[in-house]
Amino acid sequence: MVLSSNDREFLIREITKELDAKADGAGKNLIARCPRCGKEGKYGVYVGKETQRKKPFMSHCFSCGCSTYTLEALLDFIGRPDLMVAPTADIDARLDTNLLFPLEEGEEIDDALGVVELPDFYRRCFAHPYLKSRGFTFDDYEYFPVGTTRGLNFRYDDYVVFPIIDEGDVVGYVSRHTWNKDEIDRHNSRVRCKGGYRILRFRNSTENDFVKLLYNYDAVIEGVTDTVIITEGIFDVIALTRKLEIYDNEHVTAVATFGKKISRTQIYKLQCKGVKTVILGYDGDAVEAIKKTAGELNAYFRVFIADIPDAGKDWEDLGIEEIYGIFSYRLRTPAEYRLLKVQELK
Ligand SMILES: [Zn+2]
Repeated sequence: MVLSSNDREFLIREITKELDAKADGAGKNLIARCPRCGKEGKYGVYVGKETQRKKPFMSHCFSCGCSTYTLEALLDFIGRPDLMVAPTADIDARLDTNLLFPLEEGEEIDDALGVVELPDFYRRCFAHPYLKSRGFTFDDYEYFPVGTTRGLNFRYDDYVVFPIIDEGDVVGYVSRHTWNKDEIDRHNSRVRCKGGYRILRFRNSTENDFVKLLYNYDAVIEGVTDTVIITEGIFDVIALTRKLEIYDNEHVTAVATFGKKISRTQIYKLQCKGVKTVILGYDGDAVEAIKKTAGELNAYFRVFIADIPDAGKDWEDLGIEEIYGIFSYRLRTPAEYRLLKVQELK
């Protein structure tokens, strides 16, 4: 059943009063005395977003084991069938994800994630020569945790490791070798002739598929963050945050999709948090990928494309002035962007 956000808030308020419940730490469950067995603090009503396993207003008692699965059953169970609201098709309601997010018959959005262990001996760092060379400041280390395995785990020697965090849990990591691409290529071609170990530029976690992950997702605050800048990679997010000074800006934040495309799950994750506007900030040379991704996003958000004039540059290369110029004068709608790119080819 689809509820408007008003109805949802009304129900949560009334159920809280009725049960004399309190919200748990994350605000995802109302905890109360069980109406059936009377055990205090064992009865939970789920009020978080819909996931694969959980639907809003499911309830369960961890003492007597009774459960309800629908809002109607819950209201009956707590003796308040009068609170039942009529289903709505209000397109502006934030939690109407099923309605806004048209799914094929039988299709399900799989956003379930397992917690991932960081490499053995990982320890966070607050200074690193490689990251310094890429412009990292004190705030960057503070807001974007990164670490190394301190020479104690040979697989990750010479890598910096960025945890990917989702609702406070580590759900993946990206490890970047600290040599530049040319050095790695040279090393690998030597290895091809003389034998030895090849170096991978990235050595990332494998447990959760990266199409289900967004870097910096927890900085998108549900119901508060209005605009999200979508970039390709972690270093783009950090460079943009630093150069636009949006570390503490709750309304605008940058995320990365780990490449030049966005998945249905990643779109769904942004939609769940009530994001309204997205600015697509893929590298300037990714014209076709930008057109395609902008088209996909356009069904769910107000979309702008940050049209980087120099195709060879990414957010790390661009100066602060250039970036302000792009956000002031070069945000295109998908239609404008398509038109302009056709003209530029002529
Ligand atoms: Zn009970």
